[in-house]
Amino acid sequence: APVIVWFRDDLRLSDNPALSKAAASGGPVICLYIREETGTGQRAMGAAAAWWLAQSLRALGADLERLGQRLILRSGKAAEVLASVIAETGAGSVVWNRRYDAGGIATDKAIKSDLAARGITAESFGANLLREPWEVKSAVGEPMKVFTPFWRAHQRLGHIRAPLRVPTALPAFAGPVASETVEEWGLEPTRPNWAAGFTDHWTPGEAGAQARLKAFLAGSLDGYADGRDRPDRASTSRLSPHLRFGEISPVQIWHRTHMVAGMEPGRDVSKFLAEVGWREFAYHLLFHFPHLPEANYQHRFDAFPWRADAPALKAWQKGLTGYPIVDAGLRELWHTGWMHNRVRMIVASFLVKHLLIDWRAGEAWFWDTLVDADVANNPASWQWVAGSGADAAPYFRIFNPMLQGEKFDPKGDYVRRWVPELAGLPAKAIHTPWEAPLAILHKAGVRLGETYPRPIVDHDAARARALAAFATIREPS
Ligand code: FAD
Repeated sequence: APVIVWFRDDLRLSDNPALSKAAASGGPVICLYIREETGTGQRAMGAAAAWWLAQSLRALGADLERLGQRLILRSGKAAEVLASVIAETGAGSVVWNRRYDAGGIATDKAIKSDLAARGITAESFGANLLREPWEVKSAVGEPMKVFTPFWRAHQRLGHIRAPLRVPTALPAFAGPVASETVEEWGLEPTRPNWAAGFTDHWTPGEAGAQARLKAFLAGSLDGYADGRDRPDRASTSRLSPHLRFGEISPVQIWHRTHMVAGMEPGRDVSKFLAEVGWREFAYHLLFHFPHLPEANYQHRFDAFPWRADAPALKAWQKGLTGYPIVDAGLRELWHTGWMHNRVRMIVASFLVKHLLIDWRAGEAWFWDTLVDADVANNPASWQWVAGSGADAAPYFRIFNPMLQGEKFDPKGDYVRRWVPELAGLPAKAIHTPWEAPLAILHKAGVRLGETYPRPIVDHDAARARALAAFATIREPS
């Protein structure tokens, strides 16, 4: 009987355990992607990620066609879609790769038992992490809450499984199977087409992901440990959206990086793989603390006096805070669907500490605008910055956006790229235009309050206010 491969966040043919399992059956294979009507606890996809999904599905469809296959697209409740495809095709089993968010797990569990009751076998595989979240444990068998020991324990487990090759044969199902189209799903914006610029920055799909990894390993891995903090240079891999949609697996990244690095991986390699490790850690946290996306990991933050300030939130979202590095980051996000990690930390800290706005408002904005919006990484990182997370940055450590800018964008090139109205300013004024002599502003065509905003909060006052707010929930030491 035919086997259904249910594609989800694993839009690739290589190192795809579910697909390989189906291929090994020797029988006809039906490749299915379901645009899921999300059940309770499942998050609907944000707009930028939906744009990516559309491109990625087209790429996967084309890759499958080269194998004589077709990607079937259906929408609805996953259980109902699977039931009807089974009824239409006489499929005897369904395979998929696992997900780790509470809503997804609950949905998959219900589907598994529903299928079993009808005599259909369902099998799931680990595909999108180096190790399953339950494999890494503390000495006493508990989930890990601190990154460094987590990563050490992770590495102590030794061997990472070898990546799987693209199946050589994938017999198609002979009969007709109805399919919807990517276009009908309306995943892409039309008017206004805010994603018009995305195509200049990205090549979604498996081939694009592999090319990105190759270019990174050849060009930027060397020097990554220091270069990764510089938003003015393209020194990180930019693999995050590819990982988000499973167009490449961390197992492939791991082995390919070791292959290039040889036997003696140095500081750059360890640092790069440790970042992949932070992704593993975020999934570990999500799996063991399923409320991570919506609730403070540290409960004392439930009493934090967040401010409701719609105009300030709007200014932040639009990149009009008057702090150039913050504004550059938020505009990079809007124009490309991505933001450099150092700048993500700066803008998140600014929202949570300078503006005292709940991290969940920032997380929601990132969720909607990032092409790599990730159900584990996004909330875990926001909680890390907010101080409410596991192994988080202490709340009282408040980023100074001027110093961050001067240190990590020393010539101001990053700000000039994304905040063109400041492009004429010299390096020494670009991160603090409100302190620049009028003559310099004039020469650069900058009129504060007109061509570019004055700071919406004063740094010192905001810092004092944040510390006072934190004092109300600080634990007695
Ligand atoms: P590289 O430096 O090349 O790292 C390689 C891979 O390691 C990344 O693709 C990513 O999968 C992983 N990684 C790197 N840094 C981190 C990190 N700090 N935490 C977890 N994984 C990491 N990452 C997302 O993938 N999705 C998100 O929604 C997301 N939201 C974030 C929100 C905030 C407030 C912050 C501070 C960080 C967030 N990150 C998120 C983490 C990080 O910023 C991005 O993964 C990284 O910038 C992606 O760029 P890259 O692929 O070039 O990274």
